[in-house]
Amino acid sequence: MYPKKIEDLIHSFSMLSGVGKRSAERYAFNVINKFSDEQLDEFINSLIKVKEGIKKCSICGFYTEDKDICDICSNPLRDSKTILVVENVKDVIAFERVGSFKGVYHVLNGSISPINGIGPDELNIESLKERVKNGSINEVIVATSATVEGEATALYLKRILEDFTTVSRIAYGMPVGSSIEYNDETTILKALEGRKKY
Ligand SMILES: [Zn+2]
Repeated sequence: MYPKKIEDLIHSFSMLSGVGKRSAERYAFNVINKFSDEQLDEFINSLIKVKEGIKKCSICGFYTEDKDICDICSNPLRDSKTILVVENVKDVIAFERVGSFKGVYHVLNGSISPINGIGPDELNIESLKERVKNGSINEVIVATSATVEGEATALYLKRILEDFTTVSRIAYGMPVGSSIEYNDETTILKALEGRKKY
């Protein structure tokens, strides 16, 4: 047993997904042995800032800093009539990195998965429906993953949105079963360009 303060730090790191006990120990001793006072302050401050200043955009669900509406939704140069629907915030980052999409986003926070007890009500779908109903949207592009859950989600969205707007699904040159975020920029760009109306 380490002293309690060290055990607590190890426990904190072990709460991160994918971090096992040994990695958590390694991170903890990195912080203790390798960080200068300055670096430690920086680390602590960045955690505090995230806790205090990061919110979800009230329109699309992407992160925003100290504001209700994110930089993408509030940018007048973006086409607010074209909504790209993604599973998580990392997918927004992936599409933004490619840079060719000029519309706006909607982040679902996951995908429909009956096995895991995740239905439409557990996701950020109702607000998408409201957005589409009220916003005379030209197109909703569904960019959920090429997985069983991603397909089920895309079909569900098509069903509830097609009366109000054009719904398209991005094409997949990406391997079946893969998430958006793990594909390279060219693949993402091709998938977006090759989208098909449902
Ligand atoms: Zn937003």
